[in-house]
Amino acid sequence: MNIYEQLGVRRVINAKATITSLGGSLMPREVLDAMADAATAFVDIADLQRKIGERIALMTHNDGAYVSSGAAAGLTLAAAACATGTDLAKVDQVPDLTGMRNEIAIHTSQRFVFDRAFRLAGFTLREFGFAHVATEWQLEAALSEHTAAIAYIVAPHLTGRGFLPLEVVVKIAASYRIPVIVDAAAQLPPPSNLWRFTKDMGADLAIFSGGKDLRGPQGTGLIVGRKDLIDAIALNGNPHVAVGRPMKVGKEELVGVYAAVKRYLSLDHEAIGRLYEERVATIIRGLQDMPGVTTTRDYPNEAGQPAPRVLVRLAPPLSRDAVVAALRQGDPAIEVYVAGPDGILLNPMTLEEGEELMVIQRLREAVPAIAAAR
Ligand SMILES: *Cc1c(COP(=O)(O)O)cnc(C)c1O
Repeated sequence: MNIYEQLGVRRVINAKATITSLGGSLMPREVLDAMADAATAFVDIADLQRKIGERIALMTHNDGAYVSSGAAAGLTLAAAACATGTDLAKVDQVPDLTGMRNEIAIHTSQRFVFDRAFRLAGFTLREFGFAHVATEWQLEAALSEHTAAIAYIVAPHLTGRGFLPLEVVVKIAASYRIPVIVDAAAQLPPPSNLWRFTKDMGADLAIFSGGKDLRGPQGTGLIVGRKDLIDAIALNGNPHVAVGRPMKVGKEELVGVYAAVKRYLSLDHEAIGRLYEERVATIIRGLQDMPGVTTTRDYPNEAGQPAPRVLVRLAPPLSRDAVVAALRQGDPAIEVYVAGPDGILLNPMTLEEGEELMVIQRLREAVPAIAAAR
């Protein structure tokens, strides 16, 4: 019996995405091995964190890197670092930001579920722009001696559309000497995004999830960028007793992220792209002849990742919600995204080998049963 069977927790075939509520992503063998290895000895955690940061920075063409307990924790630490710098008295004071820069400027259209991560460190969000559009003067008018940083969210699935291009934000921010923090949590692939926002586009910090496509431990994140800010982040984070201490990252996770980044950069991402295309084509073929069901290739996916999905549309009397419920009720459960009133989306990225065939089979069972019941 595996651990989930022992616990009576049903396994899920994840045809949805690398989302937290389904377990993020699955760690490959080399990541698991590195973590098991890390678990066998005591080390100086600050030393380990620093050395892993240096190695990841080198591998990703950045000046500095830091492993956090998730991208959301990365946002908290990054913001805190922009206010405290390496001043230990200020670090000690957070989340009371009295006497420090205490505002994070953010596009109104980019307000999103994770901006609480900034508020957690005591910051107030200073919105600029309208819900559907923003101008350069609106950004400039929002900046003041209270601004610690400008947050920039790259997440088409979570935010609106009316925001300035990152290049424009970076240029204005630089003229005011205010750092730009990019939330790029789900912006892998492509791996080049690990340096694109910082090295190529000039943002000060960029933050990624360790538990999404990177396939590190689910409870990790990665911050890359300016070395002086990475040093300030380290003072705000574990093992220092500061705002980031409750967001502890253990030696196993530190090493896990290191192994995951190393692996990620060595992968043949074109071959992986072809594998996703094959899975999508297999699913489209497998559902082709079903009455009331139409399938198309959808590209890119909701996070803007360069990966295809299958859009399955169900014609009346088929109920989309009944199909989703039937997939979820099985064992293993199958989880999918819904699209519009009649569609479901099948994502090849989080499927394990051969699971696309199980998805086809379960849909071929569920759909006629639902049609017959109508
Ligand atoms: C997933 C996600 C987060 C949260 O990342 P965690 O690693 O789960 O903390 C934050 N921002 C965006 C845009 C995300 O997609």
